[in-house]
Amino acid sequence: MKAFVYGGPGKSSLEDRPKPEILDAGDAIVRVVKTTICGTDLHILKGDVPTCTPGRILGHEGVGVLDAVGPGVTTFKAGDRVLISCISSCGKCDYCRRGMYSHCTTGGWILGNTIDGAQAEYVRIPHAETSLYPIPEGADEEAMVMLSDILPTGFECGVLNGKVSPGSTVAIVGAGPIGLAALLTAQLYSPAEIIMIDLDDNRLEVARRFGATHTINSGQGKASETVMALTGGRGVDTAIEAVGVPATFQLCEDLVGPGGVIANIGVHGKPVELHLERLWSQNIAITTRLVDAVTTPMLLKTVRSGKIDPTLLITHHFTLDQILDAYDTFGRAAETKALKVIISA
Ligand SMILES: [Zn+2]
Ligand SMILES: [Zn+2]
Repeated sequence: MKAFVYGGPGKSSLEDRPKPEILDAGDAIVRVVKTTICGTDLHILKGDVPTCTPGRILGHEGVGVLDAVGPGVTTFKAGDRVLISCISSCGKCDYCRRGMYSHCTTGGWILGNTIDGAQAEYVRIPHAETSLYPIPEGADEEAMVMLSDILPTGFECGVLNGKVSPGSTVAIVGAGPIGLAALLTAQLYSPAEIIMIDLDDNRLEVARRFGATHTINSGQGKASETVMALTGGRGVDTAIEAVGVPATFQLCEDLVGPGGVIANIGVHGKPVELHLERLWSQNIAITTRLVDAVTTPMLLKTVRSGKIDPTLLITHHFTLDQILDAYDTFGRAAETKALKVIISA
């Protein structure tokens, strides 16, 4: 089968690989129908993710059809259409019993990281019963791909941890796919204002169409002053960090008002400065989280009912043969205006 393989920092290729086989009773083999590229995959290609070693097939998002299931799998059968979660969970360990699937002792984010992933014609999914979701009849497959990772990530790490509530004020720093997923799902809670901050005017324009009430280009270095002016000098109730660099985290520290929450989503590779000399008395909370994908079934229903439309995030389409072009387009998002790219296997 064809598969996209990480070859070490700066190296990747489309290769022929053997089709995966069932290794454990709880495994399933999925024939991938559609997959996508995540910002995290770009971090892997740069060499930022040491757990992912050369030779690994990348990809932790997608939908497909079950090709085979292990003898321990009773809730799915070959031929079923399934959504692949970016988080694998056994459902039985201490962390899983607490709903913290991201830290499953034999799962978590392993797909396309420590085991071969979904940017291939076939993928082996361990703990299939608790890591796959059935795709309802008539559901839009491309919308479902957005449920593998970005929608639950924006929602759980940004909106739920950020305690977005009716009438509240939210700032989202970073209008990439994850920031936009937080913007889409924040609206389930009817905040009064959602201020979107980015360096890219095209992404801010998209954010306006997605429901941002204000957009700020932080390129002029006046983002925090503008937010203070918009909030009567108080700052925001929720500041969502959706980039993962020190400057954007620091901006969130500047924007958050008394009693507010800084909800971090960004994948950070460097330390940030924590200004406790200002924040210690402000009753704020700082939250971090690796997505647990516990809200996937709920989000699936809101997508099915049309409450949120994640297909708005899809800008480009490719076939698996064209995956190198897809990476190039996704990697040059400022020029290509790419948000999410769909790859059909
Ligand atoms: Zn991802
Ligand atoms: Zn577990």
